[in-house]
Amino acid sequence: DMISRISPSSAEYTIGITYIDYLVSLPWNKKTEDILDLARAERILNENHYGLSAIKERVLEHLAVKVLMMSKKARILIVDDEEIARKNLVHVLTKEEYDVIAVADGEGALKELETSEFDVVLTDLRMAGIDGMDLLDRIRVRYPETRVVMVTGFATVPSAIEAMRKGAFHYIAKPFKLDEVREVIRRALESKAVRANTKGSVLCFAGPPGTGKTSLGRSIARALGRKFTRLALGGMKDEADIRGHRRTYVGAKPGRVIEEIRRVESSNPVIMLDELDKIGRDFKGDPASALLEVLDPEQNRAFTDHYLDAPFDLSSVMFILTANVLDTVPAPLRDRMEVITFSGYTQEEKEHIASRFLCPKQIREKGLSTDLVAFTDDAIAKIIQEYTREAGIRNLERKIAAICRKIAKASVESRGAMQPVRITSEAVEHYLGKRKYHFEVIEEQDRIGVATGLVRTETGGDIIFVEAANMKGSKDLIITGSLGDVMRESAQAALSYIRSNAGEFGIADDFFERHDIHIHVPSGAIQKDGPSAGITILVALASLLTRRPARRDIAMTGEITLTGRVLPVGGIREKILAARRAKVRTVIVPARNRDDVEELDGNVKNDIEIRLVDTAMDVVKAVLI
Ligand code: ADP
Repeated sequence: DMISRISPSSAEYTIGITYIDYLVSLPWNKKTEDILDLARAERILNENHYGLSAIKERVLEHLAVKVLMMSKKARILIVDDEEIARKNLVHVLTKEEYDVIAVADGEGALKELETSEFDVVLTDLRMAGIDGMDLLDRIRVRYPETRVVMVTGFATVPSAIEAMRKGAFHYIAKPFKLDEVREVIRRALESKAVRANTKGSVLCFAGPPGTGKTSLGRSIARALGRKFTRLALGGMKDEADIRGHRRTYVGAKPGRVIEEIRRVESSNPVIMLDELDKIGRDFKGDPASALLEVLDPEQNRAFTDHYLDAPFDLSSVMFILTANVLDTVPAPLRDRMEVITFSGYTQEEKEHIASRFLCPKQIREKGLSTDLVAFTDDAIAKIIQEYTREAGIRNLERKIAAICRKIAKASVESRGAMQPVRITSEAVEHYLGKRKYHFEVIEEQDRIGVATGLVRTETGGDIIFVEAANMKGSKDLIITGSLGDVMRESAQAALSYIRSNAGEFGIADDFFERHDIHIHVPSGAIQKDGPSAGITILVALASLLTRRPARRDIAMTGEITLTGRVLPVGGIREKILAARRAKVRTVIVPARNRDDVEELDGNVKNDIEIRLVDTAMDVVKAVLI
């Protein structure tokens, strides 16, 4: 109507029309029907993913809870002394697929409540004996989760309002309007479900790239029969990206969440919000609160996108967050998440995944057939070891894709006359060029003042070398290699420990007076902070100062205290996988990480020795030659 009064040539007209087009195009009530079949879900997860058994189990549990919540029949108790009213209500509500029980008075109601749970009690206000108000009081005290709805005649509306003040959920006036009864019950049940649903309601997949987070999300959507879409939070700089722009200028846009919902044409898709940890640091506004509006079941029922300017119900969207690391995620958000950790694959797992999933997939995607092209096991092992260095399998997949592309090209050039191709490990070198990584510590020599450490990175784990040198000077400690503050403090602590035990190490008393010490951690690409390099720095220093070489093939992780105790650290699994990639044979781990070590699956611990240590001296004895 307003539109008809605006001149069609004006900007407002265009904005108005675009806006209305947009509103009309949204899937307001369009939902896909959920497939709530756990056995089927499990089959789909297994079909598409090798391993990950603990993760699949957690996902299935999460789905099971959702399934139960969705399929559980709500139980409703009707209390009314008028038989006709009772019969009517039972009839209407049973048709809505609720479990309905009816009684004629307050005493009867209390008896029912004692023996079983009800989600909603629909009670007449005026009854002989225990009346509606009494019943309300008792239910509020004893069954606070149960919602009470009052039924009243017109004359008693003021007391109905009084009842609401006392905690009744709502009231319905007689004679009933059936739609109203249905609506009030539905809302009462929803308010209950929301309560039960708030904590840990959003799945968060945390772990390095290429470990299967996205593809597992896709499988969940398939298992539920829902649409799937992804939305990268990484680099978002403005609340408007999430909440939309106000429609005050030409070019205003809705937020990305609403955009995605429109694109998939369903109001209950699985939406994967990627890179939670990479939201722009210079974000305008508070990203956590903007996201909570989207994710929080208490708020997202009426999500208001500034562009839409009308509430859109996001409560049936299933959100899955992903992040590489969770350290930077604000607490209020973290509280709402159920975190599932993806930590990376072993060499053996990668080999299986490559031969069963990645190779066939890439061969098909490049228009070839698995009858014509085959990778040998040796070739796959070689690609993993010499052309990739990662916790996940993203680069592995890229390398396989690159080979398939080259074969596809050759196939086209041969005009279909190509013979079957077997990709051997020699062929890998032909297709991919010289090996990229020679990184095998055991090939290197043991040296004085160099120790092998293990760190956790965003992409999994990695090995680092800590180097120590001394020069003439006066007691200075020089630290380079862009280390964070915590790591610098570890270096201080390690040095102080050695100085205070100089005698035991056989270091001359006046040595420190006459020397500066320099600690350096090369390889600029790895972000280096955290306390876990403590014992590595200690070993580098001890090696330097005692002139005994440190074994290169022993890698270590552990925090150190001034008194030489070794404290536990995080990322044990990632670090051990990294050690194995570098062909390290022995890993030194704080004794207080024993539980983490025991939790590792057998194949992670294959052909690697794990030594648990309590003190700095244990470490030094194990590593110095
Ligand atoms: P992420 O989202 O963690 O970065 P992706 O889900 O994109 O990782 O995984 C990268 C590739 O590896 C995809 O092609 C995926 O299908 C495949 N993939 C990852 N994990 C597995 C697994 N356990 N089994 C089979 N394929 C996998």
